[in-house]
Amino acid sequence: MIRSPRIEIVGCGIAAATSALLASQRGYAVSFERGSNPSERIVSVPRDTVDLVQGLTGLSIVRTVPSRWVTARRVAWESREFSSMPLEVLVFDADALARAIAERFVSQEFEVIAATENAPPSDWTVVAEGRTAGIARVTAGVRQAVGGWVAGLPGLDEATMVVACVPHAWIFAAPHPVSGITLIAVHPPARSGVAPRDILGDAVDFLWPGFGASVKRHSGRSVPAAPSFAPDCASHGRIAAGEAAVSFDPLRGDGVGHAVRGALLAQSIIAAIASGADQGPCLTYYRSRLVCAFAEHVQTCSAHYRRAWNAPVWCDEIALMSECIAKTAAERPLGFRLEGRELVPA
Ligand SMILES: Cc1cc2nc3c(=O)[nH]c(=O)nc-3n(C[C@H](O)[C@H](O)[C@H](O)COP(=O)(O)OP(=O)(O)OC[C@H]3O[C@@H](n4cnc5c(N)ncnc54)[C@H](O)[C@@H]3O)c2cc1C
Repeated sequence: MIRSPRIEIVGCGIAAATSALLASQRGYAVSFERGSNPSERIVSVPRDTVDLVQGLTGLSIVRTVPSRWVTARRVAWESREFSSMPLEVLVFDADALARAIAERFVSQEFEVIAATENAPPSDWTVVAEGRTAGIARVTAGVRQAVGGWVAGLPGLDEATMVVACVPHAWIFAAPHPVSGITLIAVHPPARSGVAPRDILGDAVDFLWPGFGASVKRHSGRSVPAAPSFAPDCASHGRIAAGEAAVSFDPLRGDGVGHAVRGALLAQSIIAAIASGADQGPCLTYYRSRLVCAFAEHVQTCSAHYRRAWNAPVWCDEIALMSECIAKTAAERPLGFRLEGRELVPA
């Protein structure tokens, strides 16, 4: 008889919480430590990701965490002139959603094994520690992001977001789900003359003169914002999911969608192997699916940064993205496909 695998999940973000819930729904014994981290990460995600989260977890994001639908985007990317376009994305705190998914996992009273020294050894470890997971990574650049908040900006209502290039960065501004406006500036690594703490204020002042001084910068340093991939994301008994495996540039990334889809794919791989499929081809398929997602994302980002009116700022980033594209372009995922929650032969 094939025994259900025991799964240890490391991490406390969306990928970890989704992995815990999905594995439990299969009847697997799961050890998962909910994070008590009161952090906040404001993200915008498209409707299909909102629907996917609901389909997999049963949670309506809109009813579960503070959120706002954004219906218009003002963009000044290829030129300094703004153009407007319709959009449908939901803005919310990804960390709050992860905590809500973890609550659901616990409240459903699945078999949870405390991660203690006495717990039986796990068959699988799902590494979902985010971008900082201690796995070697291929990175498509060294750009960084710094976040902040401002009470209000002229011309920015509660249903509009802005994506715009500024002289030394690009900036994202969107309604905060509770109040005010959330800001992210993505910039090349600290350069001489302007410390990163000034970049967000400079960027705001460029677009909304006089408002830079009102920006409250989030505590902590700039965080890495370039796409990256962990080549060793799948090995015997160990699989990385979410940003621990692939991370995305906030410019083009549906990082939350990928974290949820990554958790879904990882659990389908574990389930297939638990049902007797050969580990090698399943793990190879997992890795190649992620390489392809990474390669496509880097190609899209590269094209986008090349078209920016401040493209000279990004020349080192564009060169690093080109190197990655050359290394990853030939990969193709073969042998399987995901049908619902199951891995099936292609
Ligand atoms: C600046 C920025 C803006 C972004 N904007 C968007 C956006 O608009 N839309 C979008 O879809 N995505 C966006 N993303 C990406 C999105 O936030 C991530 O893709 C998503 O949150 C990844 O989820 P995760 O669970 O894989 O990792 P994380 O959210 O990083 O979660 C991992 C968690 O595990 C914890 N952890 C680490 N080690 C351990 C351990 N040993 N034990 C327990 N816990 C541990 C970490 O503290 C962290 O809280 C953005 C990212 C950044 C950096």
